[in-house]
Amino acid sequence: MARNELVFAPLGGIGEIGMNLSIYGFGEERRRQWIIIDCGVAFASEEHLPGVDLILPDIRFLIQERKNILGLVLTHGHEDHLGAIIDLWPRLNVPLYATPFTAALFEAKRASEPGAPPIPFNVVPVGGQLTLGPFTIDFINVAHSIPESNALAIRTPAGTVLHTGDWKIDLTPVIGAPTDAAKLTALGDAGVLALIGDSTNAVREGRSPSEADVAKTLTELIRSAPRRVAVTTFASHVGRVRAVAEAARAADREVVLVGRAMERVAQVARETGYLDGVQEFRSVQSYGYLPPDKVLALCTGSQGEPRAALSRISRDDHPEVTLARGDRVIFSSRAIPGNEKAVGEVINGLVKQGIEVITDRTHLVHVSGHPRRDELRDMIGWVRPKILIPAHGEALHLAEHAELARRAGVPQVLVCGNGDLVRLAPGPAEIIDEVPSGRLYKDGSLLVEANSRMITARRRLSFAGIVTVALALSEKGVLVTDPELELIGLPEIDATGASMTEIARDAIEEAFESMPKPRRRDPDAVAEAVRRAVRGAIAERWRKKPICHVHVLTV
Ligand SMILES: [Zn+2]
Ligand SMILES: [Zn+2]
Repeated sequence: MARNELVFAPLGGIGEIGMNLSIYGFGEERRRQWIIIDCGVAFASEEHLPGVDLILPDIRFLIQERKNILGLVLTHGHEDHLGAIIDLWPRLNVPLYATPFTAALFEAKRASEPGAPPIPFNVVPVGGQLTLGPFTIDFINVAHSIPESNALAIRTPAGTVLHTGDWKIDLTPVIGAPTDAAKLTALGDAGVLALIGDSTNAVREGRSPSEADVAKTLTELIRSAPRRVAVTTFASHVGRVRAVAEAARAADREVVLVGRAMERVAQVARETGYLDGVQEFRSVQSYGYLPPDKVLALCTGSQGEPRAALSRISRDDHPEVTLARGDRVIFSSRAIPGNEKAVGEVINGLVKQGIEVITDRTHLVHVSGHPRRDELRDMIGWVRPKILIPAHGEALHLAEHAELARRAGVPQVLVCGNGDLVRLAPGPAEIIDEVPSGRLYKDGSLLVEANSRMITARRRLSFAGIVTVALALSEKGVLVTDPELELIGLPEIDATGASMTEIARDAIEEAFESMPKPRRRDPDAVAEAVRRAVRGAIAERWRKKPICHVHVLTV
C-alpha cells in the first residue's frame, strides 16, 4: 500500500564547501511534491579547473520533476546559497521565496549582470511563515555573516525538520537580533523529527567570538593608525561594514567605498535599513582630496581576486586609490580554501611597498559565521531532534559533526552524500534511493558538463603545451613542401641547446623516410607515424609529452 513519506536529498553542499542545494519531498513515492532550499555555487580553483569560473549543481532531477516543485526557498544571500539561480532558474521557472535583504541583494546582482533575465522573487517578511502544499515553513532568525540568515523549520504531516542554514551563536551581533534560542527551544518542545545542520566549523572547539569583539579590535586599530587605512572584507558582511564605518567615525575619518560590489551591497543595505544611522559614504573620486589621517578606504578583494580593488592597489594599478609606506591595511576576512595563494600575493605586494598589513593571524579582526562545537551542542540541546544529518561541509566536518551528535545523545545520526535520497519518515531514517546529481561548470558564458573532456585537455595543455604539424602529401606519397610546424607552450631548446623545433622537424623527416613507400600514400598512417615520432623525440629530451596534432593535406 502506498503511504506518504517525507524524504530529503542534497544535490550539493555535502562533502564539499559551497554549491548548497537541498530538496525535501512529501507524498507517495510516485506522487511526491518538492521544495528546494537554496541554489548556490562553488568556486573553482585555477589549477584543477583552468578557465572555469564557477561550479553549479546539476539539476537534471529537478527539471524532470519540475511540475511537482512547489517553490525554491533561500535561507540567506551568500553566493554558496543563491549564486546558481541566475543560470539555473530559467530552466526551472518555479516560484522563489526570500526575506527582503536577500531578495534585494539578489536583484542588485542580477541587474548588474548583462543579459540576465528578469527573475521575480516573492518576499517573505523577517520571521515570517510560508505555506507550500504540505510544507509550512517558519523563518527563524539566526546570526551569521550576512543580514537575515534564517533557519527554516519545515513542518509536514510526517513531522518537523529544522534546516539550519548557516548560523552561529552571537549574543552581540553588530546588526540584527541574536540567534532565536527561544523559538528553537519552543520548536524542540513541540518535537523535531530531524535536524539538517551546518558542519563548517565542527572541528573547532569552544565558541566563536562575537562580532562585537571584532568591532572593538577594528576601532582600536583604526584609531591608532598613523596615516591612511584600508580595510577589506566581504561586501555582503554588512555587520562588519557597519563596524568599520562606526570605527572610522570614532577616529574622525571619512569612509570611501572602493569596488563595485561594495557600492552595490551598501546601496541595498541602506534601502533595507541595515545602515540606518551610519554616516554617508564618500565616492572613490574624493579619496585623493582627503588628508591621509582623515580617510578610510573600504575595499573589495579580501579573497585576492585579481581584478578587485585591493589587488589593483597592491600592484599600484588602481586609478583613484594609492597607498604608500606607513599606511595600514586590515584584512577583516579569511581566505576561503583555494584562495590562500591569491591572498598571499596581495599581502606580499602591499608589504613590499612598505605598507603594514594586519590579518586575523595576529589580531581579532575576523570571526567565522559558523558554529563551533559548543554552539552545535547548544543547537542540539534546544531542538532535541530524533535524527541529525550533518550538511554544509567536507567529509571531515560531517564526520566530526556526526560524532558530536551521537555523543550528545541524538538517537539517529546519518551521514549521506550528494544525490542520496533519505527517507526521514515513516520508520527509521534511511537512504532509500539515489537521484541524479553532479556538477556543471560555468565556462565563459556557457554551462558545460563536469565530465567534459575539454577540462582534461586544458589541463594537459597547461602542463605540456601542444605541437601542430601540417604536411602536404602528393597522391604518390611524396612530401611536396617542407612540413609546417608550430610549438606552443614548449621550451625553445633542450639541455644541450638544440632547438625543439629542429628536433621535431628531424623526427618528422625520419619517421616519414622510414615508412615503406606504399604506406606513405595513406594520409592516416603518415599522420600517426609522425605524431608518435614527434612526441617520442620531444619526450626523450624533455621527459614530458606535449599534445601533438598532425594534419596531412593530400594535393
Ligand atoms: Zn552563509
Ligand atoms: Zn554557506
